[in-house]
Amino acid sequence: MRRVRRQDTAAELLVQRWLRMHGQRYRKRNRDLPGSPDLANRSKRWAIFVHGCFWHSHPGCKRATIPKTNTDFWTRKIADNRARDARKEGDLIALGFRVLVLWECEAEQLGINERSASRLFTLLHPPQ
Ligand SMILES: [Zn+2]
Repeated sequence: MRRVRRQDTAAELLVQRWLRMHGQRYRKRNRDLPGSPDLANRSKRWAIFVHGCFWHSHPGCKRATIPKTNTDFWTRKIADNRARDARKEGDLIALGFRVLVLWECEAEQLGINERSASRLFTLLHPPQ
C-alpha cells in the first residue's frame, strides 16, 4: 500500500531533522528507486523507509492491530504489503543500497530512543 499523501508524517519530519542535524543530505519520496524510499541518498547509497505501524504490520506493536471487522480483508492486505516491502528492500539491496526500515513509533522517539538513533547512525556510517 503506497500511501497517497502530500504531507510528511510527524515521524518522517523527525527523521529528516535528525539527518540534517547530522549533516546528511537526502531526497524525499524517491519514486525512481524500488519501493519509493521515503528518504534516500543515491550517491551514498542509503535508503530509509519510515513505515506506518498499521499498514506495514509492525510486529508486537499495538498500532498494528488488525481491525475486528473485515478481518480477512485486512489480514490479506497487510500480508501483501509486507511481501511487497520485502521484495522492494531486496531490489534496493541488489542495487547496492543499504536499507533501513524505521517504524513510525520508533521514529517518533528519535532523540529519546537511543536504539533508533544508533540504527540510523550505523546506516550512515557502515563498519568497513
Ligand atoms: Zn510500531
